[in-house]
Amino acid sequence: MFGLIARNSSRRICQSFASLSRYNSTLVIVEHNNESVTPITLNTLTAASKIGGEVSCLVAGTGCGKVVEELSKVSGIAKIMVADNEAYKGFLPEALTPLLVATQKQFSFTHIASGATAFGKNLIPRLAAKLDVSPISDIIGIEGPDTFVRTIYAGNAVSTIRSLDPVKVFSVRGTAFEAAEVGEGAAASEQAPDPGSTNDLSEWESQALSKSDRPELTSADNVISGGRGMKSGDNFELLYKLADKMNAAVGASRAAVDAGFVPNDMQVGQTGKIVAPQLYVAVGISGAIQHLAGMKDSKVIVAINKDPEAPIFQVADYGLVADLFKAVPEMTEILEKK
Ligand SMILES: Cc1cc2nc3c(=O)[nH]c(=O)nc-3n(C[C@H](O)[C@H](O)[C@H](O)COP(=O)(O)OP(=O)(O)OC[C@H]3O[C@@H](n4cnc5c(N)ncnc54)[C@H](O)[C@@H]3O)c2cc1C
Repeated sequence: MFGLIARNSSRRICQSFASLSRYNSTLVIVEHNNESVTPITLNTLTAASKIGGEVSCLVAGTGCGKVVEELSKVSGIAKIMVADNEAYKGFLPEALTPLLVATQKQFSFTHIASGATAFGKNLIPRLAAKLDVSPISDIIGIEGPDTFVRTIYAGNAVSTIRSLDPVKVFSVRGTAFEAAEVGEGAAASEQAPDPGSTNDLSEWESQALSKSDRPELTSADNVISGGRGMKSGDNFELLYKLADKMNAAVGASRAAVDAGFVPNDMQVGQTGKIVAPQLYVAVGISGAIQHLAGMKDSKVIVAINKDPEAPIFQVADYGLVADLFKAVPEMTEILEKK
């Protein structure tokens, strides 16, 4: 259950925040691929640390020892609970939720968090429903143990909500929190509670992951995205060439995805991925609010568009009014000479 709060009451909340924080205990659900921790988990750990109190982690996977080892080096983690079992192949929410419910039953955390990725979006609503609380999705700020900030209307308004639920179950927008550092910690691990039931609702069959030598879109320092202005999938080759010179990931607008130019895991925006790289280059993208919702927190935004009135120029730090089919090869050529 949520209550909307007025700005002037937030000071009072912050005052009581410090005194309440020692009673808090947060469980971070670790996202990983059994080999390494997914970067957004490190951002989620930073968010969890802002709540105050103890932060614990749950690693559920199949042969996930390396993940536990890596995580144990992150400072500020009280303990790591490990559930290493074939049942967690594919990280199905139907398998993970009973484990989390059993863990919550034993430890009564005040907060449970995960990253707002496909993994978190699959799991958090199901878990919240099983615990009979409201999920709080995609938070960008924490103003107190029960008060969270999130965007609404495709990022056009910011809403501050207070949750009255006994356990706050939320997902974290990675780009809104710094990544916790791996290095100094020495967290101990222990066996996670036994859920006492098996998942007979779903079965993991297989997965086909797209492989790329370029950096991952959500964690890349540089991103170049193409829009409908690219005109075809073949023309994205121009962006791949430029990206390879800049060690950049390549993204796309939804119009480019819907037109079949590129796969939808490249989509940036409200219904795609949220990115906040050091440099974002928007090529042939008009700058619709739904696209801006996914990239406007980038440190430096460059727009290349032939239409000087394109809304993307309103958010761009540097704008180039030009035909992309001329500008992009020229940029690649200049970088090739360096
Ligand atoms: C509920 C909802 C969710 C959505 N979610 C997303 C989302 O997650 N991500 C997203 O991107 N969109 C999303 N959209 C769609 C969004 O509203 C826009 O339709 C979309 O972003 C437009 O993509 P675009 O800028 O590539 O295409 P267009 O708006 O068609 O813009 C193409 C641009 O390319 C320029 N151009 C054309 N040729 C050239 C050239 N030769 N050289 C230079 N410039 C050129 C044009 O001037 C134009 O500005 C969503 C919409 C809805 C309703």
